[in-house]
Amino acid sequence: MARVPVDWALTAVQATMGQAMRAYFRNVYLAIKTILIGLRITLSYCFARTITVQYPDVAPTLQPRFRGFHYYEIEKCIGCEMCAKACPVDCISMSKTGPRRIDKSAGVAVGGAMTSYAIDYSKCMFCALCTYPCPTQCIHMGSVHDMSAFERDSMLVEFTELARQGLQTPLSLWMQKAHLPAWARKARDEWIERGRGRHQLMLQAMQDQRVDKPVAGSGE
Ligand code: SF4
Ligand code: SF4
Repeated sequence: MARVPVDWALTAVQATMGQAMRAYFRNVYLAIKTILIGLRITLSYCFARTITVQYPDVAPTLQPRFRGFHYYEIEKCIGCEMCAKACPVDCISMSKTGPRRIDKSAGVAVGGAMTSYAIDYSKCMFCALCTYPCPTQCIHMGSVHDMSAFERDSMLVEFTELARQGLQTPLSLWMQKAHLPAWARKARDEWIERGRGRHQLMLQAMQDQRVDKPVAGSGE
């Protein structure tokens, strides 16, 4: 009479051990499978043909959604600091002389002058988080991919200085050379041309345009 519960208990123990073993081997299988899935792309590159691109003589191939150095439209910036607040590494700083707002008829910002808008590229990680909250869509990720410099301080780009030259994006040192490969000359000229039509507006953005400001010679 007493053997029945013992047999039942043994069977239950064997079943539990069987389940545990199945779970163990299933975990081993899943671990190996997920590692192989993760390595599939890496392994395919291990056996891919390698190509040396003779940069800068030959243009690098950038993907359509590549995020390069910003381009900034100072004439549309209201200095709200939303971009700076969104930046996870605090690499954007700015200053203005007074509140700015968009003049809808002209499509540009008016009010106080933008006295500074700087990005420290020694910290920037090109995440683009600064571009999303911008209410006037004046800060964008650009396509310039290279900004070599001789000093770390040169990585701090003051966009108001660029705006004075009619530029919206920093151009790398080597791109400022007289003799450039054709692709680089084309890219540089495109960037210079892009800001040229807006240069006057860019200069105005750095001047006080407040309507409550006394007008020179009005006797106020
Ligand atoms: S791209 Fe990212 S890290 Fe760079 S300035 Fe914008 S928010 Fe900051
Ligand atoms: S979020 Fe846009 S408008 Fe506001 S300060 Fe930044 S760049 Fe200028």
